[in-house]
Amino acid sequence: MHRARVESPERHVFRHHIGPPHQFTGELICWKCTASVVAVRAHTNKGAPVQAQYRLKGKTEHDADCPLNPTLVSHHIAHGSHGLAEVDEKGILRLNLPEDISHVPTTVPDEEVIAQDVVRHSVTTVRPLLPPAVNSAVKIAQLLMAHDFDRDLVKRFKVRPHGGGLIPWGRFCYGPTAESYAELFQRCRRSEVFTYPIAVLGTVQRVNHDRQGRPYIALALNVPAAGGAFHVAVRSEHPTLIEPLAPGTHVLAVGAGWEVFNGGHLPQLRMWADEHWQLAYWTTDEDQATLPRCPPPVTAAQHAHAQAEARRRRTARQSAPPATPPAAPRPPAPIPSNQPPAETNAAKPPSPEPHPSTELRPPAQEAPAAGMNEPATTDAPAAAPDADPAPAGQPAAGVPPRPEQPPAPPADAGPEQPWQGPPLPPFPPPGPGEDGRRGALRRWLKRARRRA
Ligand SMILES: [Zn+2]
Repeated sequence: MHRARVESPERHVFRHHIGPPHQFTGELICWKCTASVVAVRAHTNKGAPVQAQYRLKGKTEHDADCPLNPTLVSHHIAHGSHGLAEVDEKGILRLNLPEDISHVPTTVPDEEVIAQDVVRHSVTTVRPLLPPAVNSAVKIAQLLMAHDFDRDLVKRFKVRPHGGGLIPWGRFCYGPTAESYAELFQRCRRSEVFTYPIAVLGTVQRVNHDRQGRPYIALALNVPAAGGAFHVAVRSEHPTLIEPLAPGTHVLAVGAGWEVFNGGHLPQLRMWADEHWQLAYWTTDEDQATLPRCPPPVTAAQHAHAQAEARRRRTARQSAPPATPPAAPRPPAPIPSNQPPAETNAAKPPSPEPHPSTELRPPAQEAPAAGMNEPATTDAPAAAPDADPAPAGQPAAGVPPRPEQPPAPPADAGPEQPWQGPPLPPFPPPGPGEDGRRGALRRWLKRARRRA
């Protein structure tokens, strides 16, 4: 916890009061109840930094009615989860992800709203409504944040992906520790196919703009990992999804489309958000978190505009003569399953045709387009087809692999470093030849250098 009380004379103390040196004369207690706590200095745990915090003393528990009592909060979360979450007799909360995580029940249970407490671990919602699964995940994340991701507390939360077995919370929700981000980064590096939505928790560090002027956010910068650092980013074709997110805003970004993009200075662990409910956000001050909310739904006009833009870019690409015969690097993506059927989500109009981003792979073209002035061979992992099936540890084995998130954006959606040199020959799609894409890259680079 970031805060505690000195019992007598009563005063509140905060994280920054924890030394060295610190002098707390008198017993330390929870800032919301009478439970004894101790001050723990900043330290590292298995190499991961742990910030200074107040922790329950020994086997002490928060008072039953303390808003920081995890059991109490777990029951409130379950109560407001539309039946998705349950607490067992050991106090373990299980969040069962529905088949359609974006589903918002048509009836809003106003009678269930509990204006619970000043820490606001309540189930109150604000419009546009977050789907109960995402809302419950945010509540859990907020509770864990209030407890500095205490490892014992994290163990009390589990998730059951639809059709799969129980997994630890940290296998569903990544961040905000570097260690956790790095784990997801490695999963993406292995081209793991996610059979359930993945949540990434972070705080907006920076808002950037891509070459089309669309804003995107960095949730973490220079995260250390084996083999080099990376950034964590969330992007979108729809600027309205990103615009509400300012530096300092906490974000839970949900989707199965997490991937590693290698086109920039550092690799990017990123997701493209296509729907408003994929981005839950809130802020905190010294005392409490605000209610989670999400951006306004993407309108039919925005979807149409994004489709038109995608068509325009595709036409521009196709009008350039291909250098090698086009190949079929991957089968067309199905409609992402985390996009709700139109009838279950009034906010999303029926699409007359597949969303452009679903038609628009091949990502093979994206990396070179964005990172032309970097060694082409480093791009290979991101562009490799998902030939690697989910590893044995994949908990939701048995669920047929399917992309649940619109795939990567078009070729010219990459960052920020326009090519400064002479015009380049058109980049070939991955060829079926003996040496495949790498060979095509090599040939393309050769031609590019000859022209330069
Ligand atoms: Zn307490």
